[in-house]
Parts: sequence; C-alpha cells; structure tokens
Amino acid sequence: MQFNRHGERVWGAVTSFLDAERTRRAIGSVVVPFGTCSEPTNVAAGGGACPLRFRCVGCDHFSTDVSYLPDLRAYLDDLLRTREKLRAMTEADDWARAEAAPSEEEIRRVRRLIQRVTEDTDQLTDDERDQIQQAAAIVRKTRQGFLGMPRIRQPLPDLRPERPA
Ligand code: SF4
Repeated sequence: MQFNRHGERVWGAVTSFLDAERTRRAIGSVVVPFGTCSEPTNVAAGGGACPLRFRCVGCDHFSTDVSYLPDLRAYLDDLLRTREKLRAMTEADDWARAEAAPSEEEIRRVRRLIQRVTEDTDQLTDDERDQIQQAAAIVRKTRQGFLGMPRIRQPLPDLRPERPA
C-alpha cells in the first residue's frame, strides 16, 4: 500500500516484484521522515541534501506507505501545536512568528494525505487489514534501528555571515 504525495495509490496492481526491480528501487531511493525520496541529489547524499528542506508533501519525488501513518499523524499534531504556540506568543514580532509558523498549505496537504491513506485502509477486508497491520508493525520495528533519519527541522541560520570588505 504505497501512495504518492497526493494520497493516490501507486503500485496498486503489482502483486510481485522481480528481484532486480526491487534492488533498483532500493538503490534509487532513500528513507525520509514519512516515506521515501527518489530525488537523485538527495539519494546520492544519503538523505541529507534535500533542496526543499523536507517539505515532502509538496514534492513529486516523495512516496509513502501505510506503515508511516502514525508518523504522519504525529507530524500533523506537531505542526498544529507549533502554529498555536506561535499564535499565543507575544514576545516576538509578527514577521518572525509568521516565518517560523508552518504553512497552512502544508497542514492541509498532510491532513489530506492522512485522510486518503486512512480511507484506503478502511476499504480492506478485516483479514487484509490484519495482514497489513502486521506487516507495518514489522517494517516500523526495523525502521527504528535506522540511524540516518534526516531531521525535519529547518537548519539553523548561518551565524557567521561574511563580513563586508
Ligand atoms: S522534499 Fe522530500 S521527497 Fe522531495 S527532495 Fe526533499 S526529501 Fe526528497
């Protein structure tokens, strides 16, 4: 149960992979916070060189699967919490709060992706859902040992700008 960034099923009709195709896909993608990335520069850098700073729901190189649903939900909660915290913050200028706030579009896209993955899962039979849940649990357990997970947060600004001549 793989999905593109719009929440549309990909590989839905595929029932088995050739080993060569499986290997090609593994080499041509890298794990990112809520799925996989196939952007060549980022793949070559092992996932640490995203040109979009991990706005994956806005990028065609992104795909996800049902095992990432808990991470997507946690990310949405984090975005909403951050937005509310910034709204209540009175010690900062408006521009600073606006630039630090998550975009409404990203919140909308993440919410839509969660909804579509959930709807697809709901259409399965009880037996299929059980199998998917068991598979997702195994994948998630394996993934926890992955050490190269990139950070979602924006990189810190450069505090050593070049001095004017
Ligand atoms: S936004 Fe996500 S999918 Fe797109 S290049 Fe960056 S890490 Fe890859």
